[in-house]
Amino acid sequence: KKIIIAIDGYSGCGKSTTAKAVAKELGYMYLDSGAMYRAVTLHFLKNGINPEISAEVENGLSKMDIAFHVNSSEGSQQVLLNGVNVEEEIRGMEVSARVSEISKLPEVRQALVRKQRELGKHKGIVMDGRDIGTVVFPQAELKIFMKANTDIRAMRRQQELLRKGQQISMDKVKENLESRDAMDSGRVHSPLKKAADAVELDTSYLQFDEQVSRILNLAKE
Ligand code: C5P
Repeated sequence: KKIIIAIDGYSGCGKSTTAKAVAKELGYMYLDSGAMYRAVTLHFLKNGINPEISAEVENGLSKMDIAFHVNSSEGSQQVLLNGVNVEEEIRGMEVSARVSEISKLPEVRQALVRKQRELGKHKGIVMDGRDIGTVVFPQAELKIFMKANTDIRAMRRQQELLRKGQQISMDKVKENLESRDAMDSGRVHSPLKKAADAVELDTSYLQFDEQVSRILNLAKE
């Protein structure tokens, strides 16, 4: 039986890479909800949309199309914003620095949650984010809540950025993770929190393969 797997948790715990590997192993679809919030943020930054003016926000959202381009043979996924591949741009520090401010807007969340439910209509999906188990798919059969020590998360994220050609100091990376966690947890609409029925997974001292196999074992139960 195919199920919905919701993976939520703090920034930089390795949710996306883990979710992707779990999906691949199960032959499920993978959806990165954070990429959608990042794409909206990029769209707002590019078009100078003031997040405090709701008419601008509404107008910006109406002129935005987000789609995923999936290459199943490579197992890779690209985000298209109005038809343009923005996969690289949305992972940069500019977007990371502003995304939590944009993702707290109720209009933005409403639009993206609707889209996420639509994309996840068929069973056999792994979706990662902040509110998947609590808001998007409260009926998900398996919910994981990931966390990890902040220094370890910052180190991993710094390495990941470096591989993408961005050299960012550890302090800056750590500060971004901490400020996003604080904003994401403190917002009024759909704050980041563990669903009551979620299984907590601390990845601080777990090897990547262990992380994946723990989730796979839970999925088989
Ligand atoms: O998962 P990722 O770190 O790429 O997400 C970037 C940001 O998008 C988060 O810090 C959060 O502000 C927002 N987000 C959200 N709800 C989700 C996924 C991401 O608010 N389901």
